[in-house]
Amino acid sequence: MKLILLGPPGAGKGTQAKRLEEKYGIVHLSTGDMLREAIASGSDLGKEVKEIVEKGALVPDAIIIQMIEARIAAPDCSKGFILDGFPRTVAQAEALDVMLTGKRLHIDHVIELAVEDAPLVKRISGRFSCAACGAGYHDEFKRPASEGVCDACGGKAFNRRKDDNPETVKARLEAYHGQTAPILPYYREKGVLVTVDGMADFNAVTAAIEEALG
Ligand code: AMP
Repeated sequence: MKLILLGPPGAGKGTQAKRLEEKYGIVHLSTGDMLREAIASGSDLGKEVKEIVEKGALVPDAIIIQMIEARIAAPDCSKGFILDGFPRTVAQAEALDVMLTGKRLHIDHVIELAVEDAPLVKRISGRFSCAACGAGYHDEFKRPASEGVCDACGGKAFNRRKDDNPETVKARLEAYHGQTAPILPYYREKGVLVTVDGMADFNAVTAAIEEALG
């Protein structure tokens, strides 16, 4: 199964993708995670994209397309994958189609997590994650059961994303509405798009996605 999760920053794509990864045994591919890893490693790619990512703008299509094409070709993607944060422009969506068609593959489902802008700044600004296992938390909505200790792995160090601040979130939302939302009609016309209410609680969103996947 090959899926795309679409939605503005903070809509819950990463959380839902992790759940689907476990349930369906398919790989979660987050272009944002790949870029953050490249930045942390100090690679040439990381140096090239650092400033763009930190100000909340979109990385050029050519860089992203090359990165995802290489990733999709890896053996662990043969059973399927969940794309989170890609495609983010119509050009990326078209390039993805060309990539898949060349392998006689196609996207089975595109799930849009619909969330209004207003709650997103609050959702995103309070996010942090375990430095060891990546489990996600929130200052207000989901603190670890024992303060300062990761529920999942017992880790005691946590990270906050540099671009998870109110000013950058505004730029990321503008990029979403201006450059990413135009993808929705592209997939609607193909008959693969299902919209899910991303404001519902996480379990209800998971259930709605699973229903959409049949
Ligand atoms: P995310 O983790 O998906 O919120 O992505 C974090 C940042 O990485 C974005 O704000 C962009 O700067 C960059 N990024 C991630 N995926 C893409 C993409 N498909 N196209 C362009 N830029 C991207």
